[in-house]
Amino acid sequence: MANRLPPLPKLLDRKIYKTGQTRGADDDVIYQNRVKRNSTVLIPINSFNNCAYAPDNQGIFENDYIVLIKPEEYFENSQIRSYMEEKDLVLGLNSLLFYETRYQWNAYNPTRYNLNVASSRIAPLGGEYVARVPSTTSKDDEKINLGFITSEIKGAGIRVYEYASSDIIKKCQLQLEYLYWSCPDSIDISLKEGMTKRNIEIRKSNIELVCNQLGLLNKEELKKIRVINDEGHTTCPLCLEKILASGFYNRLEQADGRDVPDLTVTQVSLFHIVELRTGVFNHQPYNLGWGHHFCNVVCKDSGINDTLLWMKEVLARNRL
Ligand SMILES: [Zn+2]
Repeated sequence: MANRLPPLPKLLDRKIYKTGQTRGADDDVIYQNRVKRNSTVLIPINSFNNCAYAPDNQGIFENDYIVLIKPEEYFENSQIRSYMEEKDLVLGLNSLLFYETRYQWNAYNPTRYNLNVASSRIAPLGGEYVARVPSTTSKDDEKINLGFITSEIKGAGIRVYEYASSDIIKKCQLQLEYLYWSCPDSIDISLKEGMTKRNIEIRKSNIELVCNQLGLLNKEELKKIRVINDEGHTTCPLCLEKILASGFYNRLEQADGRDVPDLTVTQVSLFHIVELRTGVFNHQPYNLGWGHHFCNVVCKDSGINDTLLWMKEVLARNRL
């Protein structure tokens, strides 16, 4: 179906593809950097009750999960141990101790318990612990990064709230492409970016057809989440200004793929309408849109409604 279609301009294709990946993570954290959203998920044990089941695929995560436990909870809290037993959570099989403070490292040093560093994301995990302890000002306290640090296996997994199955990833990408074609200048800009008129027609009508078949084209619903306006044009979910297709072809990227934030241009970025947070799976159709990079930065972790309320207060205090 979709792969026999005429290709999109490269930059656009890449932008849509990247929506199926997690966002960047630093070297010193436990998370994987820019991998598919259906990768192994890391679930803090305190969130296990809310996150143990994937949102589709009969509740099964496509690449398993790893439960992370604080050493002090594991060694001092007998309730945690019985909870683990009750939930079939086994160190080294689907669970790991996660050392992230100097105190944990000193008080419950893994060598004292004959524990090994984990080396696999899929059971058995090859060890019982992973460590990311930052350095301190003391010269003897260098940072401790153990487990999932080589270039072949960097990062133990992804944040659970970033997860989406391959089916959901695909549906989101289709809906997001539909939103691209709903930008008022999409045809002109796509011509300018090298597509032929004929290929634009084929691609556009096919995306509409497929989205329709999959129930991804409920205009009322799309309006409600603020990603299109009454004319059916794509809008930024925060400021409600029309999104221009030209904003998708931003060439300000470094060779390593890292985005360079440039707030002076109307750069377009992926928007989660209800923000991503632990306990819910919000990378879903009808929760995604394209918005201004700047607007996205403004409402990043608080969500659109809270951001608007905050803006209202700011304006009122400024008597504007
Ligand atoms: Zn905006």
